[in-house]
Amino acid sequence: MAKEYAKNEVALKGIGVSPGIAIGSAQLFAHQARKAVQRKIKPDEVALEIARLEEALITTHDQIKAIQKQVAEVLGDEHASIFDAHILVVDDRTFIEDIIRIVKEELINVEPVLQRVANRYADMLSKMEDSYLSERATDIRDVTKRILDNLAGETLNQMAQISDSCVVVAHDLSPSDTAIIDRSFVLGFVTDLGSATSHTAIMAKALEVPAVVGLHNITAVASSGDTLLIDGSRGFVFVNPTPGRLDEYRKRAESQEQILNELGALRDKPPETRDGYLVPISANIELLEELDAVDARGAKGIGLFRTEFLFLGTEALPTEDEQVESYVRAAKSQYPAPVVIRTLDLGADKLPANFEAFDELNPFLGDRAIRLCLSRPQLFKSQLRAILRASVNDNIRMMYPMVSCVQEVMDANTLLRECMDELKGKGIPYNEEIQVGTMIEVPSAALIADLIAPHVAFFSLGTNDLIQYTMAVDRGNENVAHLYKPTHLAIIRLIDHVVAVSQKHGLWTTVCGQMASSPMLVPLLIGLGVDELSVSPSQAPVIKDMIRKLYYSDSVELARQALLSTSAEHIGELCLGMVRRVAPELLELQG
Ligand code: PEP
Ligand code: MG
Repeated sequence: MAKEYAKNEVALKGIGVSPGIAIGSAQLFAHQARKAVQRKIKPDEVALEIARLEEALITTHDQIKAIQKQVAEVLGDEHASIFDAHILVVDDRTFIEDIIRIVKEELINVEPVLQRVANRYADMLSKMEDSYLSERATDIRDVTKRILDNLAGETLNQMAQISDSCVVVAHDLSPSDTAIIDRSFVLGFVTDLGSATSHTAIMAKALEVPAVVGLHNITAVASSGDTLLIDGSRGFVFVNPTPGRLDEYRKRAESQEQILNELGALRDKPPETRDGYLVPISANIELLEELDAVDARGAKGIGLFRTEFLFLGTEALPTEDEQVESYVRAAKSQYPAPVVIRTLDLGADKLPANFEAFDELNPFLGDRAIRLCLSRPQLFKSQLRAILRASVNDNIRMMYPMVSCVQEVMDANTLLRECMDELKGKGIPYNEEIQVGTMIEVPSAALIADLIAPHVAFFSLGTNDLIQYTMAVDRGNENVAHLYKPTHLAIIRLIDHVVAVSQKHGLWTTVCGQMASSPMLVPLLIGLGVDELSVSPSQAPVIKDMIRKLYYSDSVELARQALLSTSAEHIGELCLGMVRRVAPELLELQG
């Protein structure tokens, strides 16, 4: 019996991104471009095909109208009018009659006919001299994709349909996929693609479910219904594990549970080193559902509220009023501890459904975050007004993401002042003294931190992007994950520089990237002089334990040695040596 199991077990090694052990049944999610598969039909099925088409057209029409209404509210009528062209396509009787005629004549299902007719129209339009008409080709393609989705009866996303305990197996998961899953059913994630600081990894941590990414071929190896064992700390995945393996891991899970329970006792203890140096721990949140975990895990306040997640996984963008409600809820839950609301970091891998975005070759270097907001002032101002309105709760602060030059901070501040004037004109209260900071996550911003400093109240080091942009290593790409090195001297020097500038200008510096959630790297960050660590709520007990077992003086010495070192590997060894000496049990949890 044991032999038979042993034969079936497949062990894979990927990148562990969210610690913990999960055992459960696999559920495969294939995310592939929809193909309009051709199928012969009988003459008596023609009426049914036409009815399917008409129904999909009505659904599509309603969806576009709903999106248009939302866009008008958030972005203004000018942007909403783009969808008029989409409506024209769905309502175009010539287009529809063409499809029906071919279905009747050739006796094939409606999908490939729709695709063929749409392609013909789009090709014809794209060749037109008139630029208005040639641009309509894109509308036809967009609408066709939507009609095909509706013909397949797909809802917004398959992830929303999970209704049984399972381990999610996928080629890749976008942040919007993960934003809408029902966390009570998902025991863990495993994916072919991805890396440690991909936004999917961040979501897995937020959901507190073990996850291993960058497995290359898990979707080929595992089938729905297989038993999967995930070791999110070490990055192992076992498909159909042997009874011996299950036994070993159940014991390991028990021992991890015991360590975590002991850490739970730290909840109300201060994050203070043995020699009395306090390093406040705040939390990174993506969803309001995480607010309870912040306090429960012993963190204080929110150092990073990734507000773009409010815009993902929904058909419609949140309105200004809905945003106010979310920010007020966050502020009240943490009062009097600060809540740092990061303005929208949309773009790249984080795009809302139906968002009009550029088709870019390098989206992580493209229209993302503050750039995207500054080019859509109506969207940006609706968020700025919402933050200001919520700021009557005076623990609210705000910051801009992905700043790469001073002008962006100045332009954003100008829009903020415009919003203040608008609110004042209407007699709507807000906090005139609201603290505005900026993220430092692009090397150019780090290097000119002294020029940015006079325009802000604090810096927040986004090390996930700082490493990506400094080392030219895509943070979500498992093929180059080995080059993504938080202990690279370039990163250590940039952090050291930003802290020095910050101290000179009397500013406060937080680290809100994943480095702050790593017990191995925390002594180094503290030694470099950062003031605060903002971590995933689930990591707060681990980080607090690490701080409380440290001597600040040892951290300073560690940082001094790191700055003199010549290799990332050597700095990594120095950091590992420190954890081994002061908190070896954390290595059991983190892998
Ligand atoms: C970062 O880049 O380190 C960061 C905190 O922002 P995000 O991970 O949301 O890009
Ligand atoms: Mg970032």
